[in-house]
Amino acid sequence: MSILPIYLDCHATTPVDERVLAAMLPYFTEKFGNPASIGHVYGWEAEAAVKQTREILAAAINATPEEIVFTSGATEANNLAIKGVAEAYFKKGQHIITVATEHSAVIDPCNYLKTLGFEITILPVQKDGLIDLTELKKAFRPETILVSVMAANNEIGVLQPLAEIGEMCHEHNIIFHTDAAQAIGKIPLDVQAMKIDLMSLTAHKVYGPKGIGALYVRRRNPRVQLAPQQHGGGHERGMRSGTLYTPQIVGFGKAVEIALIEQATETQRLTQLRQSLWEQLSQLEGIHLNGHPQDRLAGNLNISVEGVDGAALLLGLQPVMAISSGSACSSANTAPSHVLTALGNSQQLAYASVRFGIGRFNTQEEIDIVAKHVIATIQSLRKTSFMDSRKGLRQSDLAPAD
Ligand SMILES: *Cc1c(COP(=O)(O)O)cnc(C)c1O
Repeated sequence: MSILPIYLDCHATTPVDERVLAAMLPYFTEKFGNPASIGHVYGWEAEAAVKQTREILAAAINATPEEIVFTSGATEANNLAIKGVAEAYFKKGQHIITVATEHSAVIDPCNYLKTLGFEITILPVQKDGLIDLTELKKAFRPETILVSVMAANNEIGVLQPLAEIGEMCHEHNIIFHTDAAQAIGKIPLDVQAMKIDLMSLTAHKVYGPKGIGALYVRRRNPRVQLAPQQHGGGHERGMRSGTLYTPQIVGFGKAVEIALIEQATETQRLTQLRQSLWEQLSQLEGIHLNGHPQDRLAGNLNISVEGVDGAALLLGLQPVMAISSGSACSSANTAPSHVLTALGNSQQLAYASVRFGIGRFNTQEEIDIVAKHVIATIQSLRKTSFMDSRKGLRQSDLAPAD
C-alpha cells in the first residue's frame, strides 16, 4: 500500500535520492574544508569535490567547467543572468524579450528592470504553450540585448524549441538565456548545438538538495559579460561571491550524474505513467489537456476540468494526493495561473485545473489509485454542483473564503 498522500508534485520539488545524500554526508563533517583554502588538505579536498561537480554539470550541457557559476538555485541564477546582462550591456541597448509563461523568477527581474527604464517585450504563446518563432523574430530590435525563454515549463511541461531560438538570437547578435530548472537531467541539453549563452540550473527538481543551483555563462563565441549581483571575496571568477556550499554542490553533481545515466529509461517509464493517467482521466467528459501533447516533460500532466469549482476539487483530492492546482498557491491569491490564462483558457477552466508532476519514485499502482480518486471526486462534485445550481447557488459559493 502506498503512503498517503501520494506525492505528485515533482515540479515543485523532489526528495533527495538516497545515493545523493550518501555522497553529500562526508562533506558536512570530516571533509568540511573551505574550497577557497588553498594552503592545506582540507581545502584541497573540498576544492576537488567542487571541481568534480563543475565537470559533471559542464559535461551534461556540453560546456566547459570554467563556464559554471554556482548559485543558491535557479531563482538566483535567473536574477544574475537577466540583471547581470542588463547592467553590462545597457550602453548597447535596453530592450529585453521574454515570454508570458515564464517562471516569476524571470518575469519579476524583467519587471524590475522596467522600473529602471528598460523596455520589456513579453511574447504570447500559442494554444499549445509553444512560442511562435515568427513573433519572436518580429520582436527583435537593434537595441535588443537579451532573449530569455525557458527550456521546460514548470506548470504545463512544454518544451520550447531552444535550438531554433538560439540560432535566431545568434544571427542577430542577441544573448540567449534559458531557465532550465525543470529540464536539467530530464531532456538532452547542449549549449553549443542550441547556441545558448546563459542557462539557469537547480538541483532540487532533479532529486538533489535545495539551495544549490548554477548559471552557465558562455566564455567563447561570444564571451558573455555579466555584472555581478553579489559582491565580496571574488568567488566564481568574481561573478558570485560567497563561500561555496560544498555538501550541496557534491549533491548537485551526484543528482545530475544519476539523472543522466537513467534519463532514457526514466523518460520512457514516466511517459508510460503519464499516458496511463491521461487515458484513465480522459474517459470522463469535459477534461482538457493543457500544453502540447508531445513537446512536454515526460512526467507532466496538466488538466482543466469543466463543471467543478477549482478550490473544491483541490480540497477533495488532497487526502489522497499531493498535487498543485493551476491557481497561485498562496491562500490570499486564488487568481488563475498566468501560464494557463496565457494559453487562452477561460478564467473558469484555468481555475479548475490540476498539475500532476510524476517522478522517479512513483509507481503504476499509485497512478491507478490517483486516477480512481480524481474521477470519483470530479463525479461527486459535478453531482453537487448540479443540485446547487437547482437551489440557485453559484459554483463560486462553494469556494472557501479567504
Ligand atoms: C523551480 C523553478 C525555479 C526556481 O528555482 P529555485 O532553485 O527553487 O530558486 C525557476 N524556474 C523554474 C522554471 C522552476 O521550475
